[in-house]
Amino acid sequence: MIVGIDLGTTNSAIAVFRGGGPELIPNALGDLLTPSAVSVTDAGEVVVGRAAQDRRSTHPAQTATAFKRLMGTTRETQLGKRRYLPEDLSALVLASLRRDAEAALGEPVTQAVITVPAYFNDRQRRATRRAGELAGLTVERLVNEPTAAALAHGIHERGDREPFLVFDLGGGTFDVSIVEVFDGIVEVRASAGDNRLGGEDFNEVVARLGTEALKLATPPAGPRAIAFAALVDAAAERTRRGLSEGDAAPFRLIWEGAEHATTVTTAQFEEAAAPLVARLRDPVLRSLRDAGVQSADLSEVVLVGGATRMPLVRRTVTRMFGRFPGVDLHPDHAVALGAAVQAGLKARDAALDEVRLTDVCPFTLGVATSERDAFGQLQAGIFAPIIERNTVVPASREHRFQTVQDRQVRIRFEVYQGEARRASDNILLDTIEVPVPPRPAGEVQVDVRFSYDASGLLEVDVAVPATDQRLRWVVSEGDGAEGSLDARRAALARLKVHPRD
Ligand code: AMP
Repeated sequence: MIVGIDLGTTNSAIAVFRGGGPELIPNALGDLLTPSAVSVTDAGEVVVGRAAQDRRSTHPAQTATAFKRLMGTTRETQLGKRRYLPEDLSALVLASLRRDAEAALGEPVTQAVITVPAYFNDRQRRATRRAGELAGLTVERLVNEPTAAALAHGIHERGDREPFLVFDLGGGTFDVSIVEVFDGIVEVRASAGDNRLGGEDFNEVVARLGTEALKLATPPAGPRAIAFAALVDAAAERTRRGLSEGDAAPFRLIWEGAEHATTVTTAQFEEAAAPLVARLRDPVLRSLRDAGVQSADLSEVVLVGGATRMPLVRRTVTRMFGRFPGVDLHPDHAVALGAAVQAGLKARDAALDEVRLTDVCPFTLGVATSERDAFGQLQAGIFAPIIERNTVVPASREHRFQTVQDRQVRIRFEVYQGEARRASDNILLDTIEVPVPPRPAGEVQVDVRFSYDASGLLEVDVAVPATDQRLRWVVSEGDGAEGSLDARRAALARLKVHPRD
């Protein structure tokens, strides 16, 4: 059975394609959303989901949330006696979803389609795939979240050519995509985003307003500061949800035995959040520009992500596009439902016979090279794009490079992802060294081929025609993670996970 999983910053969800349509699977508590939270009890037991989320205010030092933001890094979180990589924490959430789905479906779940923000880079995608594998799932494909949202909205069934825009503001990330359908092919024409902007940032604004009004000072760094921050954040989240319903909401927390309470008004919130709202505009304009589409040409604007429930965001979207956004689906469910549609495509469900899905790579991939400038001076660190942003994937492109120095014995390629002309302003993915025969400058050629698969993972092939040498790299699997995937999977499986039912 292939399932579709939305591994969100705040909440995750799992869905399956059956009976001709996608369907969310409730967890052991009967909820359709499982908070992406992990906590470890004093007895060393791991709890995941709502129970972990609830422990955030009582046991902040033993509880981890929002670790999706750290995916692809080696920043570890200490919980109890163990340290966890972001992908370990994600794996625990995935394993919990998997167990719940197996219980609900009455059959083993071994394969999954997992969604990622379109803006996730190669490292972040690889970490997500590893998290799935650590949870005992074969990751059939990674799908960009906005693409999944488009599938959930049944855009693939409409068969018109008009582009539409998916506006996805989640807990931690913001994504904009322009999607188009023709002849049963769903094509993401352009993606842009900000992977450091989401509901959590709006919480910080509320937290600042609340703590300033209460004259509550943050304790100096240490366990007290962590506990304080968690309480303030939980209070801010409640306040912000309240502000989605009315003109003011209480901001209330109990800190070291004393109750502190004030009120935050919508007017105060919206004024303080203006800089965040301003950041919503740029990715929208960039995606329209990249897709070569005018706002007036859009057939629809689809809202996705829990944070689009904020009236402030809805108003901003309405103003930006001069029309009301479509809200026919629950913004928190669309991504998981779309992942299930993709899973159905993978499993070739008869209801989806005619649909295929293509996607574009959301960023440019290339290498740093040295070039001679107009004065014959060697300039190092120039970014040479190989696969341009918004190329339809899977894609494979080749570039030819040559030696720049006499008797040079190797060429060093630094593989980068990004849009800046100066390579070092982009994200370094890997370094590849290719031995070449010592000859005069410019006489040895090297062909570098980048292949980008449908999940957004990169492979590099290098050929040196002079020596008939061929080399292949899969850009390195995140550094720093000790031990093989098997050993780490076994270690995670040994953790005592608290059964919730
Ligand atoms: P997601 O990552 O899509 O699960 O979105 C989670 C984000 O949606 C969190 O930042 C929540 O605070 C936010 N959210 C959920 N419900 C509401 C609501 N009623 N009003 C405001 N924000 C909400």
